[in-house]
Amino acid sequence: MVKFNEGASLNTGQISDQRGSSGGGGGGLGGGGLGGIPIGKAGGGIGLVVAIVLIAIQLFGGKFGGGSDTGSASGGSSLLQQAAATGDNVDASALASECRTGADANAKDDCRVVGFVNSIQDYWANQFKSTGKTYPEATTVFYSQAVSTGCGQGSSGMGPFYCPADNQVYIDLSFWQDLKTQFGTNGGVFAEGYVLAHEYGHHIQALLGTSDRVGSDSGPTSGSVRLELQADCYAGVWAKNATSTPGADGQILISDITDQDISDALDTASKIGDDYIQTHLGSGRSDPSQYTHGTSAQREKWFRQGFSTGDPAQCDTFGAKDLG
Ligand SMILES: [Zn+2]
Repeated sequence: MVKFNEGASLNTGQISDQRGSSGGGGGGLGGGGLGGIPIGKAGGGIGLVVAIVLIAIQLFGGKFGGGSDTGSASGGSSLLQQAAATGDNVDASALASECRTGADANAKDDCRVVGFVNSIQDYWANQFKSTGKTYPEATTVFYSQAVSTGCGQGSSGMGPFYCPADNQVYIDLSFWQDLKTQFGTNGGVFAEGYVLAHEYGHHIQALLGTSDRVGSDSGPTSGSVRLELQADCYAGVWAKNATSTPGADGQILISDITDQDISDALDTASKIGDDYIQTHLGSGRSDPSQYTHGTSAQREKWFRQGFSTGDPAQCDTFGAKDLG
């Protein structure tokens, strides 16, 4: 299992802990817009989020009586009302005192997430530096159930996501459990690293202007699919480089990543492909015209591509004739 260097420092300044300040109550929608659909560029806002919530309801139609009938719609709106009650940051210092070192990341679930976020950003900071650029950090927001974002209201049912309008990653940490119970993954903590590195991949795409070239399309060779597969590839690149990347304190934060960790990342990728989700959690049929993230096989392939090369330049899903 992935190991953090016990003496290395964690930087909780990269996290905004908004758990406990949510509207609370009510069950989530279950997994849905997984893999961090960019929920709208600046100004995209609530309309897009509503659309994604409705898609989530359709995916998990059974729970709400199916389809986009009135029952589903009211399920969606009550969730959005909850989201409106979201407050602001409660107690950032609690996380800071709890998560100080790699030893804490080895011992505590939420500190481990801090460690992954730190390691991912250490990698990109070094990568940008090597090309003469400065990497602007992106905060990860921990929230419970519902959250206000620069892209509109977010909720747990959407899964983790990156908002390009405020350059933040949002995650309800209960998602790790959803991965096992709803998506049927084997679990394994490195799945968390993969998911977070995928979301930070979207941050990189926003910084490089890649996401600006892509609209909200769908289909097997759509810009959306290419963007998502590239984020998977970037996640693999980080995984390859994590154990050789020094942090701000000069120490390498992650000391060991095992074959089992990589298997866990690939297993997760294989359970969040469009075909898998549509077949197992949606209508029961795979409809390529609705693909936005790529198939399970493609997601595995591009994570592997990043992991085997360790080079973000080898993640050119836009130039690739064959996505796999
Ligand atoms: Zn994504």
